[in-house]
Amino acid sequence: MSRPADVHDPSAEEVPPAPPVAPRTARAPEAAVVGGGIAGLAAACGLAERGVRVTVFEREESPGGRLRGWDTTLADGSRAAMDRGFHAFFRQYYNLRGLLRRADPALDALVPLADYPLVHRDGPRDRFSGLPATPPWNALALAATSPSFPLRDLARVNVPAALQLLDVDVPGVYERLDHVSARDLLAAVRFPPTARHLAFEVFTRSFFAPVDRLSAAELAVMFHLYFLGSSEGLVFDVPRAPFPEALWQPLVRYLAGLDVKVRTGAPVERVEPGSGRRFSLPGHGEFDAVVLAADVPGLRTLVAASPGLGDAAWRAWAARLESAPPFLVSRYWLDRPVRPHRPAFLGTAGYPTLDNVSVLERYRDREREWADRTGGSVVELHAYALPEGCDPDRERDRLWAQAVSVYPELAAAAVVDARHELRTDCPLFAPGSHRDRPGTATPDPFLVVAGDHVRTDLPVALMERAAASGLLAANALLSRWGLPGHTLWTVPRRGRLAPARALARLSRGG
Ligand SMILES: Cc1cc2nc3c(=O)[nH]c(=O)nc-3n(C[C@H](O)[C@H](O)[C@H](O)COP(=O)(O)OP(=O)(O)OC[C@H]3O[C@@H](n4cnc5c(N)ncnc54)[C@H](O)[C@@H]3O)c2cc1C
Repeated sequence: MSRPADVHDPSAEEVPPAPPVAPRTARAPEAAVVGGGIAGLAAACGLAERGVRVTVFEREESPGGRLRGWDTTLADGSRAAMDRGFHAFFRQYYNLRGLLRRADPALDALVPLADYPLVHRDGPRDRFSGLPATPPWNALALAATSPSFPLRDLARVNVPAALQLLDVDVPGVYERLDHVSARDLLAAVRFPPTARHLAFEVFTRSFFAPVDRLSAAELAVMFHLYFLGSSEGLVFDVPRAPFPEALWQPLVRYLAGLDVKVRTGAPVERVEPGSGRRFSLPGHGEFDAVVLAADVPGLRTLVAASPGLGDAAWRAWAARLESAPPFLVSRYWLDRPVRPHRPAFLGTAGYPTLDNVSVLERYRDREREWADRTGGSVVELHAYALPEGCDPDRERDRLWAQAVSVYPELAAAAVVDARHELRTDCPLFAPGSHRDRPGTATPDPFLVVAGDHVRTDLPVALMERAAASGLLAANALLSRWGLPGHTLWTVPRRGRLAPARALARLSRGG
């Protein structure tokens, strides 16, 4: 098969669909997709493109899930766009980009961010731009040029432990490392403290988890996906317009062309056995199959309210699914600009809660217009892994205070208006949680699950895991109906450096 436009890495792998397990169905099946985030929309595309009649039910007033957006009126009377915050669209997100390309073939909606600097509270700065794209040269160049890797500290690195990060094979890495926490792996590796903060804790916190609550296997997979296993580079694109306009309205139009109905403001309360078809979604009709593409809190609630779904073990799994700690996204419309050299996106490390600062007028049209018109700036702050039950006002204030210490000019700015989103709807990948994390399949062959919490046995994460799991869920149903599935693409499933893998195995005594 010819390579999709986004797959530049010669080592990227094609994942063909399994052959159909049943003869081709005589009539077009009808499927319900619960959840209109990336996973649900990917599943809807995958099914509708093969002739399945699909209805997507989304609880909120618009699709997009955690990338949903809405309009808001600011104190100065301007209409502004609000959403759940900055998202990085990495080049190795092959399946997500393939999904978006269905409605936007040239991916005009995305713009590249020229630089991805990281700053530590104690001073060192790193950047991932300008590095060679291909492993191991990217890692060697980072270590050689970065102030976070002083030579004397590098001599202390525990090489056998560090090699575990190079010997990633999915799913084997979970057997070796899932029981360990990211904190313990990082401690064993003995990377210089500044490098740990900058290069590693920034990664773990992007999973919304503190280092002691994230599986070391997930950290290793993340390193592999973004850095050591892919030659697409650690640079990313961002939508140039608010998410609805850039991403979801075009995709929903594409889906409408396939006769997919996207019902918003339509929560699914329960799934029951149907009388005419296999499943009934009370108030919404009956369907031959259901894709559960809800977020973790939504899935837990839905399964608890649907006692006939799956079997006891599967239901117990759903009940045990954990959410990551709360996170806060604060967006400020300010009366004056930040200094001209401030980058569009800055990762931060070593601060109590501040994880990144973005300046929206650097890359988004709508905010650029506002900033040009008012002479102000639109600044967004993220704080991941906050304490459970934290006080929202206190967290907002201390997040702002940290941002002022990074960009001192913020102290003089007057806030025209601000919006804050404190949420707890990202999944947690706790140490030891992989073993009983089910994939897209459930005990019922016509009930499948998709979302960024689902096990895919591919080296994917976050938005790309959502997109990949949506397509895998669609493939599982298509196979039951004797219909052809979709090919997925992934960064290589094994570490690219055979000698490093061999050394890692030797050091484990294997
Ligand atoms: C602040 C922030 C920053 C992020 N940054 C990045 C990033 O830079 N890069 C990256 O790759 N990822 C990032 N992520 C993660 C990314 O947003 C998620 O991985 C992805 O959006 C998950 O998609 P999903 O479809 O699995 O779930 P969701 O987007 O959560 O979609 C699930 C949908 O199901 C709906 N739903 C739930 N229950 C029901 C019900 N009963 N009936 C109907 N509908 C229901 C919900 O309303 C929701 O719309 C970030 C997330 C956040 C919050």
